[in-house]
Amino acid sequence: MRKTVDVLGIPVDALTMKEAVEKVGRFIEEGGTHAIYTPNAEIIMQAQRDLELKEILMNADMLTADGAGVVLASRILGRELPEKVSGVDLVQEIFRAYAGNGLRVFLFGAKPGVAEEAAVNIIKDNPGIVIAGCRNGYFSDEECDEIIAGINRSSPDILLVALGAPKQERWIAAHQDKLDARVCIGVGGTIDILSGRVRKAPEFFRRNGLEWLYRLCREPRRAKRMLDLPRFMLRVYGEKFSGGRRSSGSGK
Ligand code: UDP
Repeated sequence: MRKTVDVLGIPVDALTMKEAVEKVGRFIEEGGTHAIYTPNAEIIMQAQRDLELKEILMNADMLTADGAGVVLASRILGRELPEKVSGVDLVQEIFRAYAGNGLRVFLFGAKPGVAEEAAVNIIKDNPGIVIAGCRNGYFSDEECDEIIAGINRSSPDILLVALGAPKQERWIAAHQDKLDARVCIGVGGTIDILSGRVRKAPEFFRRNGLEWLYRLCREPRRAKRMLDLPRFMLRVYGEKFSGGRRSSGSGK
């Protein structure tokens, strides 16, 4: 039984990092192709306007809270998520937990050459892990079949899809039934971080839920997109005061 917390209509899994990693392990053993997304406040707001995106999130096998804002929202709404489980942290914990079992990982996304740089670091930090393949995230529609064939030939346990949100969520959902990968995870800028080209937010910002501020300072062009953060909090308070209590649990 999947225990989820409703955050503005999106069912986020109420899992600690440890539980999320264990669940990924079960997905790998189970076979089939599972989809995991890590929505933050921006994506949850986009999903309010884009019903197709909302549907994609609702059909995921696991959704984890990528930002402090989502966890805070769950507290305000009185349906608490245990902790933040961001994409980059989840990926690093999965590597740590299963590298020793020969975990096979395919890195799809980021600019040319970045996934290969990330692969070198991943192998160095996680003895036993196998990088099954790398493919940059810039491609035409015509190249899509060839990319999927390349992924399938390497039969990865984990396929990281780093095309930015919501492009990566749409890509996974559109191709999930053709992909021979046990777990596909939409991971945003994670491959950039694993390559060492981009730094994770420093501890102070991470601990205080200020990753958005760090990001805004580094990438001011995101300012417009970030207007969704205050809008998200307003919606959350709106829902709290309208008394809309819709805690949920789905059968997946
Ligand atoms: N990216 C890509 N293909 C695209 C657009 C983006 O591979 O067509 C990559 C980009 O190089 C970067 C990542 O997707 O590595 C997006 O990172 P960002 O941190 O902006 O993700 P977001 O916060 O938008 O999810």
